[in-house]
Amino acid sequence: MSRYAEPMARLIEELKKLPGVGTKSAQRFAFHILRSSDEDAAALAEAVRGLKASLRLCSICNSVTDVDPCAYCTSPTRNHRLVCVVEEPTNISAVERARGPHGGYQGVYHVLHGTLSPLHGIGPNQLRTSTLVERVSSGEVDEVILATSPTLEGEATATWLADTLRAFPLRITRIATGVPAGSDIEYADEVTMAQALEGRREL
Ligand SMILES: [Zn+2]
Repeated sequence: MSRYAEPMARLIEELKKLPGVGTKSAQRFAFHILRSSDEDAAALAEAVRGLKASLRLCSICNSVTDVDPCAYCTSPTRNHRLVCVVEEPTNISAVERARGPHGGYQGVYHVLHGTLSPLHGIGPNQLRTSTLVERVSSGEVDEVILATSPTLEGEATATWLADTLRAFPLRITRIATGVPAGSDIEYADEVTMAQALEGRREL
């Protein structure tokens, strides 16, 4: 039996499901919430509920959005013929932060929601690539930048995607390894990310 009252044990169990949150942190968060005002606790609960109720995936690029198609896909100022492929929705902000001598990234995105990972049973069919292939095959795209992380899985995914897209007449590029090998592009600072985009090479 838990040494906490049931509502506390339940919250701790839920918090422990968050990435990077162990038992100690979960307990700390739970007691913080218990001590906080009714308004703050209600706002937190409502923010969690509202997130699931109002957010969905963009039907074009798979990014997380409250309007479909998303703001990137409908932007009149972005280059819709330049598509940056990333692993996770959070990677978009890393690319958006990139600031190089020629300004920031002005193209659009495609989110895979994962990488190839035979060890975890994730094959090509588990990746969300259909809308990307659709866009490419209908001639809407001039260049696809493969911005998956320089990890084993990220590289395998980039290689597989390049092979898949090679059937179509477009430029396929891979970000340079300005992003440290083996690391997640989410942690790249804006200059590193800009260099990675700037130094992208043809595949
Ligand atoms: Zn979109």
